[in-house]
Formats: sequence, structure tokens, C-alpha cells
Amino acid sequence: MEYISTRGSAPTLDFEGVTLAGLARDGGLYVPSEWPQFTADDIAAMVGLPYAELATRVMSPFVAGSLTEAELHDLCEKAYASFAHQAVTPLVQLDERQWLLELFHGPTLAFKDVALQLLGLLFETFLARRGSNLTIVGATSGDTGSAAINAVAGREGVNIFMLHPEGRVSDVQRRQMTTVRAPNVFNIAIDGSFDDAQAMVKRMFNDPYMNSRYNIGAVNSINWARLMAQVVYYFAAGLQLGAPHRAAAYSVPTGNFGDVFAGHVAARMGLPIEQLIVATNVNDILHRALTSGDYSTGTVTPTVTPSMDIQVSSNFERLLFDVGGRDGGAMAKQMADFEKNRAMQLTNAQREGAAAKFTSGRADQDDTARALRWAYEMCGELLDPHTAVGLHAARESALDTSVPIVTLATAHPGKFRDAVERATGSRPGLPQRVGDLFSREEAFTSLPGEYDAVRSFVAEHAAPAA
Ligand SMILES: *Cc1c(COP(=O)(O)O)cnc(C)c1O
Repeated sequence: MEYISTRGSAPTLDFEGVTLAGLARDGGLYVPSEWPQFTADDIAAMVGLPYAELATRVMSPFVAGSLTEAELHDLCEKAYASFAHQAVTPLVQLDERQWLLELFHGPTLAFKDVALQLLGLLFETFLARRGSNLTIVGATSGDTGSAAINAVAGREGVNIFMLHPEGRVSDVQRRQMTTVRAPNVFNIAIDGSFDDAQAMVKRMFNDPYMNSRYNIGAVNSINWARLMAQVVYYFAAGLQLGAPHRAAAYSVPTGNFGDVFAGHVAARMGLPIEQLIVATNVNDILHRALTSGDYSTGTVTPTVTPSMDIQVSSNFERLLFDVGGRDGGAMAKQMADFEKNRAMQLTNAQREGAAAKFTSGRADQDDTARALRWAYEMCGELLDPHTAVGLHAARESALDTSVPIVTLATAHPGKFRDAVERATGSRPGLPQRVGDLFSREEAFTSLPGEYDAVRSFVAEHAAPAA
């Protein structure tokens, strides 16, 4: 499989290349040059497969030329063995049409594990082949950091340096990072804010000395391999609900547009999908873009759903490219304008292309609390607030009642206990597998909020590129 950049001028790469590259050299994002196609018979033959087997079937066209089917299967078996549920992503019924797809059975209790557990193994495999080392540098305000650390801990060829703002992440979130004890994991507590930490990471990506000496990589959802791994659970849920003969809709709590873009990919590959509902909180740039074509940034309002508190959604570019005629030159121009003005208007082709499959819904604080209460009081399910945003949008849907709607449950309620308790009066527990989180020993290095201190620390502990 060949991958091309959404901005048209970066070199094409194979799967191994895009996995290690992250962002394309022209500033764009990599997408497959064409979508693999499954027929109804192909999909019918997937019914009842174990998750790792299904994952292999769905992903093998994307990795062709870089991994054999047997190699991919072996990696999927390993990645999903770390999940606490035999079905990996079980589907739970709420009422006659509402369903929950539980994506939080991985080691850090959020859906990001589904993709990152595999990505850690892909890094290790490809780096061993090339005989090179990768230095991952990231900043986190919570969920991404722990999922990334858990994914690469102990993996050969990779070191991870994760910055968090000291004293400004929750105890659970900090402990999920700092109690992972492996020689290749470096937790750094910065004296400063998340934005300070993020600015230092960006500076390092552009630091000529650091880049000449180290192979500096990222693990955010601009990485194609992450999106690819997320396509699988759309198939898993669709098959449970009658694919290829019946279509379902999906409501997706959305931040960076990675998770819901994976649904678009599943539809492109032939999975029958009635609709993709982009669920946002009050930071609703995507809701505005999809309803009026106006994609313009505002300021970020902090909410009880911090993983969706975003100003821009990087992966939206992949959708605009794909539905807007796949014209890299035009996309590069449109994005350059956007970067200058912090605003742009979608083209007619982009609006119509998106409207064919996507709709959107927005939940404010009250909507979110109401959805949490409904699930608890009417269905006996404690949800996390991100999932509740999705459920609100699903329950507001104007779709015919014969279409089942699957809300993606993106985090375990135990990760956001205070917000859940405020809305429902019930305090969720943490699952047994993380029960000793508060007795495990922590390890992190505190550094002043100065770039030079972070740079020297990374330079001292990272492994040269090759
Ligand atoms: C990351 C995250 C999201 C947003 O997912 P995107 O792929 O960025 O749209 C939603 N909910 C939770 C709990 C998350 O951790």
C-alpha cells in the first residue's frame, strides 16, 4: 500500500515509512492512495471472528508490502492480550436502539489504548529492521501521555520523554504515567502549564541539533497507524448488529477527529454505515463546520470532558482532502490560508461530501449531566462524561428509529470520578486491574520550565538515531 500526503508534495511512503514518519514533510497528513474494498461476502465471512483475527483481516490491505498477514496477526494477538475483556471492544445494549461500544478495557482505561498498544509493537518491529532508535517526545494534560507510555514501555529501540505540568494533572492520570517503571520511560514534571510543556515539545521538533542527532517522533493521532487500528472496532460493532445486511449509525465523542475519521474509513471500505455523528462539547468548531461550513477557531473553554477541549482538529484535514476531490495542491493552499487567518470556509464539494455521511451534535454541561443520569437511572450504566456527550448526540438523532445507534464509550467512568459523581450521585470505582495504582511507587524528574533544561535532559538520556 502506498501513502500520499494531503498537501500533495511530500514523497509517497509505504506503511513502514508512514508509521515512523508522523507528519508529512509538506506539513500534510498521510492517507492511503486508495481505499481497500470489501464486498458483502468478504464482510459476511468476518462474522464471529476473534478480535485479533478480525483486526488482521481489516488491516492487512493497509500494511501490504511492509508486514505479512502472519506478522500482522502475531502483533494483533500480542497487542490485544493486554485487554481485560475477551471481546476486546464489547457492545452493550442501553435501550431498544441505543448501544455502547466499550473501548476502555485496555491498560489505561481509554480508547487510545486500542491503537497505541499496537503502535508500540509496530515501532519495535520496524526499528529493529532498520537498526535505528526512536525518541518520542510529548506533552500531555492527561490521557494521551499514559496510553503512549504504557504502549512503549520496555519496547526495544524506543525511548519516551513525556512532559506534564507539575501539580496540574489528576492523581489518577499522573500515577498512570509515573508508576510505569521501565528503563525507556522518562516522565518529566515541568514547572509551568500544559501550554508551556507543549511549546517546549514543538521547539524540540524544530531544533536542528536535536534532529541531526536523534530520530524524534510523535505519538499523537496524526499517525496513520493509530487511525487504521481504530477502523477495526467499527467493523466489530457493525458485525454484531447485522452487517453486511443492516447498517448502523455511530455517535463519536470527538476532539482531534481521529476516532470518527476511522469510521469514515470503515464506510469507504464497504462497511454499511448509515451515519457518523460527530459529538462535541461546547468547544464546537466541528459542529459549526459541519452545519454551516464555517471552520474558524475560537478560544478553548475548559469542560468536564477535557479530551475534547480543542481549538482545531488536525484530522479534519484528512476528511476535507478525501471528500473534496483529493487535490493536494488545493488542500495546501486552503490550509495555508487557515493557518494565517485561523478561519476558512469549506468548499461546496467538501460540504456535500461530508454531509453524505456526517452529522453533528453538541452537548453543554447540562446535556452531559442529563445523559449521565439517564444512562445510570434508566439503564444501570455509569458512563464517563466524554461518552455521555456522545450519548446525548445519539439520543437527539433524527434518524429513523429502526437504525441502531452505537455510541463509542471512549473512557472508563473511573477516570473521571468527580464529574460522574456530581451528575449521578454515584462514585464509580476503578477496575481491579488498576487497583494497586495508589500503592505503586512513582518515578519522575522535576525540571524548571525552561527549554534548555529539558533539552539537556533528553540529550543525556536518549539514544542516537542509528
Ligand atoms: C482522545 C479522546 C477523545 C477524542 O478523540 P479524537 O480521536 O481526538 O477525536 C474522546 N474521548 C476521550 C476519553 C479521549 O481520550
